[in-house]
Amino acid sequence: MEFVEVREGLARILVPKAERIYDAPVFYNPVMALNRDISVLAVGVLKPRTVLDALSATGIRGIRYALETPVEEVWLNDISEEAFNLILKNVRLNLGVDGERIGERRFSFEGEKKVIANLDDANRLMAEKFRYFDFLDLDPFGSPVEFLDTALRSVRRRGVLAVTATDTGVLCGAYRHACRRKYLAEPIRGELCHETGLRILIGTVVRYAAKYDLGVEVLLAYYRDHYFRAFLRLKSGARKADGSIERLGYLWQDENGRFGYENSFLPKRPAVYGPLWLGPLKNQEFVDEVLKLANEYPLAHKKTLPFLETISEELDVPFHYDTHALARRNNLQVGKLAEIIEILRGKGYSATRTHFSPMAIKTDAPFEEVLEALRSL
Ligand code: SAM
Repeated sequence: MEFVEVREGLARILVPKAERIYDAPVFYNPVMALNRDISVLAVGVLKPRTVLDALSATGIRGIRYALETPVEEVWLNDISEEAFNLILKNVRLNLGVDGERIGERRFSFEGEKKVIANLDDANRLMAEKFRYFDFLDLDPFGSPVEFLDTALRSVRRRGVLAVTATDTGVLCGAYRHACRRKYLAEPIRGELCHETGLRILIGTVVRYAAKYDLGVEVLLAYYRDHYFRAFLRLKSGARKADGSIERLGYLWQDENGRFGYENSFLPKRPAVYGPLWLGPLKNQEFVDEVLKLANEYPLAHKKTLPFLETISEELDVPFHYDTHALARRNNLQVGKLAEIIEILRGKGYSATRTHFSPMAIKTDAPFEEVLEALRSL
């Protein structure tokens, strides 16, 4: 394998030389630097003692946690032998210690931080390390569902589970049957598909967590670059689980773009989408701490800070209006987003941009008022 060295945050990482990222024997995607930046910042705010990067590939994510956050112990795991060997190389390169074999498929590195590299199926490792990790990161190819059960047993009862899902085609309704199979949920097509996909993903974690009497608080969840990411704080106790289940529900939308939702375990209307999470997509205090840290952080990708600013300012209500889609559906001209927001605010409503789309707004104004604002431009 030929390597090139890349730098990201404080890490220097050897990655396989390849024409296209999916041809490489060990996976590295530079576009995910923003995902890793936000994760490093989140871990910086949460200050967990033990962290698992369960699907580690080159090791970059876990190595960045070790180098850039106050974490004490980081586990890096991958099922691929090539990935494991590269993880060993990259840990040595960044920690400057040789490491010691502590098992047939496990090495321990004791420098300023303790780093453990492990070669195994993530589900086996997570089953072994029961209620051990304060922060557990699942960053798979595609859907995280096949790892959710063991992850929810391996993370501590008040720990944080971070999940990425890159199966946007599934969660956004291009492959409806796959969404039913993987998430037991009905996805939507059209302008609400990304927010709905994110809420289906969170709703799935809520349902998996509930059977262990665990509730879920969303610290931060977003959609970006064709993936979903959610940082979920677990809450211990049957009542917390019940409380999270109560925040599940269903979305409906008509041909004019009017939407509504119902908080209910079973749908009352026909032709709805879900079940999905209808609770908040952020904890404002947490996001503002992450943003503050990002402001003091020179290493982050140039797009990380503006993205976090948009999320911090975003009104946290379920679903949004895509002004282009709304104009198209109702034979109207598309107006400037800033002006639509101004009109709605002038009428006393809250309205903001949203990270889900540069053409969309989040508002507490009723559908007719949003249409009226579009008409008046
Ligand atoms: N987290 C990495 C990053 O930020 O660059 C990228 C991880 S990559 C998307 C997914 C990795 O999961 C691959 O390296 C693959 O070998 C590994 N993998 C797939 N199935 C696995 C399993 N059952 N257990 C452990 N690792 C697995």
